[in-house]
Amino acid sequence: MYDAAIIGAGVSGVATAWQLSHYELRVALLEQCADVGFGVSKANSGIIHAGFHHPAGSLKAKLEIRGNLMFEKLQYELGFPFRRDGILVVAFSPEEMATVQKLYAQGVANGLRNLEMCGRERLLQLEPKLNHEVVGGFFAPGGGTIEPYRYVFSMVESARKNGLELYCGFKVEHGAFDGKHWTLAAANGKTIQARYVVNAAGLFADEVSRNCGAEDFKITPRKGEEYLLDRESPARPRRVIFPVPTKTSKGVLVIPTAEGTTMIGPTAESTDDKGDVSTSADRMKQIVAQVRQMVDGISARDIITSFAGLRPALETEDFYIELSKKAPNFVQVAGIQSPGLTAAPAIGEYVKDLLRNAGLRLVEKNGDHTLPRRHEIRHETPESLAALHQDDPRWTHVVCRCENISEAEIIEAVRHGHTTLDGIKFYTRAGMGRCQGGFCSARIMMIVSRETGIPMERLTKKGGASHLLAGKLGSMEVK
Ligand SMILES: Cc1cc2nc3c(=O)[nH]c(=O)nc-3n(C[C@H](O)[C@H](O)[C@H](O)COP(=O)(O)OP(=O)(O)OC[C@H]3O[C@@H](n4cnc5c(N)ncnc54)[C@H](O)[C@@H]3O)c2cc1C
Repeated sequence: MYDAAIIGAGVSGVATAWQLSHYELRVALLEQCADVGFGVSKANSGIIHAGFHHPAGSLKAKLEIRGNLMFEKLQYELGFPFRRDGILVVAFSPEEMATVQKLYAQGVANGLRNLEMCGRERLLQLEPKLNHEVVGGFFAPGGGTIEPYRYVFSMVESARKNGLELYCGFKVEHGAFDGKHWTLAAANGKTIQARYVVNAAGLFADEVSRNCGAEDFKITPRKGEEYLLDRESPARPRRVIFPVPTKTSKGVLVIPTAEGTTMIGPTAESTDDKGDVSTSADRMKQIVAQVRQMVDGISARDIITSFAGLRPALETEDFYIELSKKAPNFVQVAGIQSPGLTAAPAIGEYVKDLLRNAGLRLVEKNGDHTLPRRHEIRHETPESLAALHQDDPRWTHVVCRCENISEAEIIEAVRHGHTTLDGIKFYTRAGMGRCQGGFCSARIMMIVSRETGIPMERLTKKGGASHLLAGKLGSMEVK
């Protein structure tokens, strides 16, 4: 019997679980995928938004601004990559400049005191790689970037250290309340009982709500394609560059990621297919043409991979975070499209307060939420690397050449419960570089198999039937 069960281990559910792990509660986090953060939370732009895109009075604006302010402390405690390098919004015509003025005024109305209107010269000083045709814009120093998967993984790790119980492969198919408790039934026949339920199921929050007898609403996926440039691309800017937004999106951006690469995108197109994460050559060409208007040096030849994410959009376009009016002790966390990543820490706080108001007793516990610093050989000095090597030579056995990831780091990921190729990739960055795993995938599989005892032919890319090998592997030796 749990005090609370959270459905969905994306950033919203995980941030809620992390908040609740500060109290004397028994909490279960239920995730249908093989690992956490495998939904929308792994396929996004990784931007910590500054708080000027959404109108004052919207829940989005309120939680975005609160969430933004929480990142230094979170980074200090949890150690995920985060940089506050600022955001530029740029205009290339007097018409666009009028939109920039409106956006600036919206930011000021939202309480931002540090926005700086800029003329052409000042913009080029802040970002020398900008196209010199730029007319004007503004600078939002509070914006930044994070590594989204590490952010999710480290919040889960910290929450688990403080008692959170995580169930992956648990797809909630049905929920019923008997007057006192919820019983949540999974596709695999397992059940869990809890006093309170949080529906943070992302794209599937509408289905989960219906299957639990709560509100009827519709999530419409809005697809965003993103393209990643090689680490060596000369086009990498210092700060995130935004064009003026459209009605349905913040526009196509140039993003210097927290990991040191450059990303361009995303598009914004509504679809009915919650599984459509395809990308296309046409969209790629459109994106490259659009971002080249902002930064000349961007070349399609530098693109090393692409992906698409689906924004879980509601008709209202705002977040829907409320106690259900139909189902008792049931909190809806739906419509969490952008700026969901930014707002997530504040979403967690907000949901905790809703649960408290609904009667969940919160007694603080003396937990330790900080995580030990991870050794990352690509950031170490030669001396500290030598010391690590003395301790364990696997720290200098490089498995992923593009991102310089060692065998010891792969083992660390496995010991933290990540056993799919994607789980290892998101935890360590192995396979994310120029060759996209061409060199290291087989080596990673051998290490995972050796460390876990899982036969090579049963290893998967991301759980389920995504097996990496067809048939038997013959006499391949796993050392
Ligand atoms: C292209 C793109 C770019 C974006 N860029 C940014 C950005 O730069 N900055 C920003 O702040 N935000 C951005 N966002 C938005 C942000 O990514 C989302 O708001 C956020 O990740 C949503 O998190 P979530 O936890 O609500 O949903 P998810 O991450 O989708 O998590 C929901 C989880 O629930 C699980 N689930 C579903 N059904 C069930 C079930 N029945 N049982 C158990 N588990 C279930 C899913 O598997 C999933 O893991 C972007 C989004 C997209 C698509």
